[in-house]
Amino acid sequence: MNEQNILIVRCGEVALKGLNKPYFERMLVDRIKRNLREFDGVDVKRHEGLIYVRADKNLDMEKITRQISKVFGVASISPAVEAESNLDAIGEAAVEYMMNLIETKGIKTFKVQAKRADKNFPIKSPEIGRIIGAKILIGCKVLKVDVHEPDCLLYVDVRHDKSYIYMDKIQGFGGLPLGTNGKGMILLSGGIDSPVAAFMMAKRGMVLEAVHFHSYPYTSERAREKVEELAGIIASYTGRFKMHVINLLPIQEQIVQNCPEEETTILVRRFMMRIAEEIAKETDCMMLITGENLGQVASQTAEALVVTDSCVSKPIMRPLIGMDKIDIMDKAKEIGTYEKSIEPYEDCCTVFLPKHPTTKPKLEKIIQSESKLDVEGLVRAAVEKDEVVIIRGE
Ligand code: ATP
Ligand code: MG
Repeated sequence: MNEQNILIVRCGEVALKGLNKPYFERMLVDRIKRNLREFDGVDVKRHEGLIYVRADKNLDMEKITRQISKVFGVASISPAVEAESNLDAIGEAAVEYMMNLIETKGIKTFKVQAKRADKNFPIKSPEIGRIIGAKILIGCKVLKVDVHEPDCLLYVDVRHDKSYIYMDKIQGFGGLPLGTNGKGMILLSGGIDSPVAAFMMAKRGMVLEAVHFHSYPYTSERAREKVEELAGIIASYTGRFKMHVINLLPIQEQIVQNCPEEETTILVRRFMMRIAEEIAKETDCMMLITGENLGQVASQTAEALVVTDSCVSKPIMRPLIGMDKIDIMDKAKEIGTYEKSIEPYEDCCTVFLPKHPTTKPKLEKIIQSESKLDVEGLVRAAVEKDEVVIIRGE
């Protein structure tokens, strides 16, 4: 009987990383350890391309599994039992495992799927499967083999020093370990899209910092709290990060007073980008990230995106650019941000919303309108009042 519970954690793309593989694996182990920091009595080790998490029996395994499944780079997780790598020991462990399943899940049929990772093991995989299957039939009289639709598909993984028996594979998100792909500044609104964009970049290994714009007192204190809560859900995957909170109202007022009404939205967006870029420079963020999506609203037409891009020199990443709204919503549901995003609070973009926003802005005209404003001074004043909030995962 194992003293500790064991989880086998499989790496996704990390496994394809060739010569860099040890680096990615180390980063992944490090991230798993961080996500399990709150638990005493957990050990995380990598061995022969897999990661083994051993946890004291008294610990909440469901929570531990959930925490591991949130680590980017994890493809799947299996609760397993360990046995010495000989057929008697494996058979004994398999019988005990199945007895437990009969009791707790009432299973009646099974199939063994054996794999021999240790090619020096003297018996080939199909034969191992047959032998262990026979031992289970003798040890658990109520069970029958069903090769087509078994209640339990039992995996037997024979390795050099130890062997593992498991049945479930709990899916992770895949991706790459956080910290393996630079740092980016996500422009985070309270909407559905930007949290998904943040998640997608973080999933590819990018460390995040965020900026949120509000128009207090036109937007409420509660609207801002909602964004912090939304950021908290992202932090449950990424660990804590900083969010810069900026009041855009003074800039919006200048735009409304001095520029054509139909250009308000695109002008505001250019200011958002400039401010985000200034903060990105100070915080070593290599790129800006938005939840923009081709054609979704007036400010996201191809022409508008080009005009938005041209006011900054850092690249703007738009991971949702080609997705349909319905798919973005599904992703938001999957990662747990959707319910929070649809809470009805006002956004700074809806303050001073023009009746007929321009959908095909011309850069020369926009630059001409901006010449009526002290662009640099307004950006500087906004950045100087930057309020930094530390976002922690729930
Ligand atoms: P979202 O669902 O993310 O709010 P949206 O479809 O409402 O997106 P817009 O309001 O045009 O689209 O915003 C496009 C992108 O600009 C957002 O995804 C976000 O990255 C950024 N953005 C918009 N409003 C804000 C804000 N108040 N603070 C920070 N970023 C914002
Ligand atoms: Mg929005």
